[in-house]
Amino acid sequence: MLFTELGLAEPLLRAIHDQGYESPTPIQAQAIPQVLKGGDLLAGAQTGTGKTAGFTLPMLHRLAAGAPVKDARGRPAIRALILTPTRELAAQVEESVRTYGKYLPLKSMVMFGGVGMQPQIDKLRQGVDILVATPGRLLDHHQNRTLDLSHVEIFVLDEADRMLDMGFIHDIKKVLAIVPAKKQSLLFSATFSDEIKALADRLLNAPALIEV
Ligand code: AMP
Repeated sequence: MLFTELGLAEPLLRAIHDQGYESPTPIQAQAIPQVLKGGDLLAGAQTGTGKTAGFTLPMLHRLAAGAPVKDARGRPAIRALILTPTRELAAQVEESVRTYGKYLPLKSMVMFGGVGMQPQIDKLRQGVDILVATPGRLLDHHQNRTLDLSHVEIFVLDEADRMLDMGFIHDIKKVLAIVPAKKQSLLFSATFSDEIKALADRLLNAPALIEV
């Protein structure tokens, strides 16, 4: 299979071509059509399988296809939220968003703890379409009222099993209470404990199941 057969928008195909990729990996071939349809997804995938592009590419396609959404001040509102367990992973995922989205007029931002709040507040004020964050700092901003998640349309939990291992379950539940109930949700995990299954039941609506 070729990337050109998946129905992705031309600016995305151009960015994929720039990366030198020709064929989607198995997780991409399965995840991309499902996410493009707007459905929820439960995917079992390890790092190294190409899972990041598997959710990033169709997410960018859907955001670009929809009308731009502005906040009360007329700046881009956060329409996609990606949660990751670590700052390293958050930075990597946001780098992928930039790489694949380079020909699209969408703004992304990465947010994690251990660094100052103010630069993040300044960046948020400029308007962000896609936010990649670790849970703790995301909640800090929400508590400070420097973050508006009321426009989130696409929600991704990446490496959900690692998030639970790191004790983030309460933070995740708090985030779920903040984002709109009506949204597309994608959950990626390398393993499926009962705790992950319970989280998936809570978060996902008739998800497609993918295991690679
Ligand atoms: P991930 O599992 O998302 O961390 O991706 C693993 C690595 O595979 C990354 O370095 C990607 O740049 C690379 N990659 C992702 N998709 C493809 C593809 N379709 N063809 C070749 N390499 C890819």
